[in-house]
Amino acid sequence: MNKNKIIIDGSQGEGGGQILRSSLSLSMCLGTPIEVTNIRAGRKKPGLLRQHLTCVRAAQEICNAQVQGDELRSQRIEFIPGKITAGNYRFSIGTAGSTTLVFQTIFPALLMADGASTVTLQGGTHNGSAPSYDFLTHCFLDVLRRLGVDVETALTYVGFYPNGGGEWTCQVSPLTEMEQFNLTQRASLISKMAQTLNSGVPNHVSERELKQVTKKLLWTQDELKSINVKSVSAGNIVSLRLNYESHSELFEEVGQLGVKAERVSGKAINRLKQFENTSAAVGEHLADQLMIPLTLFAGGKYKTHELSLHSKTNIEVINRFLPNSIRTEQDNDEVVIAIKGQQLQATQTKSQSEKTELLV
Ligand code: ATP
Repeated sequence: MNKNKIIIDGSQGEGGGQILRSSLSLSMCLGTPIEVTNIRAGRKKPGLLRQHLTCVRAAQEICNAQVQGDELRSQRIEFIPGKITAGNYRFSIGTAGSTTLVFQTIFPALLMADGASTVTLQGGTHNGSAPSYDFLTHCFLDVLRRLGVDVETALTYVGFYPNGGGEWTCQVSPLTEMEQFNLTQRASLISKMAQTLNSGVPNHVSERELKQVTKKLLWTQDELKSINVKSVSAGNIVSLRLNYESHSELFEEVGQLGVKAERVSGKAINRLKQFENTSAAVGEHLADQLMIPLTLFAGGKYKTHELSLHSKTNIEVINRFLPNSIRTEQDNDEVVIAIKGQQLQATQTKSQSEKTELLV
């Protein structure tokens, strides 16, 4: 393992929050000290916003790290990781910042902890520009569960922009075994479902969104679902789900004041159609999100459409920590991403070490 400090320039590639989050995950799991400079230099409001600060603090608590620069709007942090410890954690963003992005930052480390952990996250759950809670559990975590990861989630409150107020809990067990993820051919489609999630918006909004799905995609009535919830902020999200034999893909769009329901739904529909018109096996967002867990653990190979800026930036960051871990290869219009896994293991669990002591 590399114990020399790695300096990451946060302005590289897209210059967004992903560089910081990926660096934190890799630092925690590899035990590598990091300095991240020019944090989110490519964004209108650079530096640590609440979501990013919560990522730093959550990472610090879980691996008992020494940290400098963990302040709002800070553009530089130093992070020296310590031992990853299982526990009962609660992280609150305080705004509608994405709880799923905080979770993805700390999740690989929890897989390496010395026992099972329970984490409660508070903030935004269905934000747009980030995986929604549904995307996280039905797409990202679903893939990892199929590979052997033991993780359960439960949603308590939905949190929309601007006030958030969402809450969910997850239970993560230390990783015992994980299979490689190999998906270079699109699997057969088993079923599909369009869902709207609504809080405090008139019923006709959801009705019009789903009507558009029937009109443009010819999906039937039993493939449509509308769920009403109570949340601190009013909000609405359209979620189109394709369940393949291999995994599920979700195409989502958050409703916005002043944007017609048909247009909101239309954006999700267009994204789904774009995916269907390629021969990619894995969608754009899942493709970038799988890189960190697959690099740290089992590795794999999958075909996606062209690489997003997020994916390119993530590859650059990962290859800084672990040179040549990720290679990409053009395959006609598609790209195959090949990941060499580090096969990291969970630290010996408490019950295992107790058993060992008894045997001695
Ligand atoms: P910044 O605050 O710097 O704008 P950020 O911290 O919010 O950025 P990004 O760097 O933009 O985060 O990364 C967002 C992550 O959310 C990426 O992994 C991306 O794939 C994912 N993502 C964005 N939109 C969606 C979506 N509609 N569905 C699923 N995942 C998404």
